[in-house]
Amino acid sequence: MPELPEVETVRRGLEPAMVGKRIALADVRRPNLRWPFPDGMADRLTGARIERLRRRSKYILCDLDTGETLLIHLGMSGRMLIAPPNAENGRDMLGQFHHLHPAPEKHDHVVLDMEDGTRITFNDARRFGAMDLFATELGETHKLLAVLGPEPLGNGFDEAYFKAALKGKNTPIKSALLDQRIVSGLGNIYVCEALWRTGISPLCKAGGISGKRIASLVPAIRQVLAEAIESGGSSLKDYRQTDGELGYFQHSFAVYGREGEACKTPDCAGNIKRVVQSGRSSFFCNTCQR
Ligand SMILES: [Zn+2]
Repeated sequence: MPELPEVETVRRGLEPAMVGKRIALADVRRPNLRWPFPDGMADRLTGARIERLRRRSKYILCDLDTGETLLIHLGMSGRMLIAPPNAENGRDMLGQFHHLHPAPEKHDHVVLDMEDGTRITFNDARRFGAMDLFATELGETHKLLAVLGPEPLGNGFDEAYFKAALKGKNTPIKSALLDQRIVSGLGNIYVCEALWRTGISPLCKAGGISGKRIASLVPAIRQVLAEAIESGGSSLKDYRQTDGELGYFQHSFAVYGREGEACKTPDCAGNIKRVVQSGRSSFFCNTCQR
């Protein structure tokens, strides 16, 4: 499942192909993904120019010159594929796009042909992804955005906020960090990594962790995310890079997926353990994470 760094990588990959460009033709090939698409989505997208591509949590937000914003969520298996214009016969042939690209495949659910002949395809085999349109002026009142806590890389996520948010919480810190109302966009992988870096066990009760240790989590979370974004996001299963080629940048994890292997903390003789919390695997070292 794509996490925040992967979504940010996708957003960055889409930016040069979409921003400032008009959608010449939108092809919406089924009525829904996780939820029904908004009424008339293809018509509302066709002809629109993309003014800005933003990210909020794991949502990509395309601000259009029509006053609407296209919200994209990749869900479990969603992929954005970019096919550049066919150089031989493709340039400046508005309306001819179907001749320039291969026919959409089974899981290509939304196809956007840009005015320069670039084709952007939203492919989602498991269909947990989502697309919606809302008036840009409504800001973050959309039901999917209104519930989100601060961005982990934004100014709203700081020591004072984080301490207040965890105060009195009886849930394990692992669950608290996955709670999108506390901090948005964090997923299983990067929570495991940040906890390992700070020596905090995922089993610790959130409200019982000292202020000093909670404070140390803020930069640790920012660092693990920033490093992953830097390396282009991590590669898991069939997730593809935005340029349509197989694979994603391989990112190495200190604990995630390393059950039974040696802990990488200097001088720690422990091995990585795996426990299941709320149905999700937590990887940690019970020697140096307390
Ligand atoms: Zn260790």
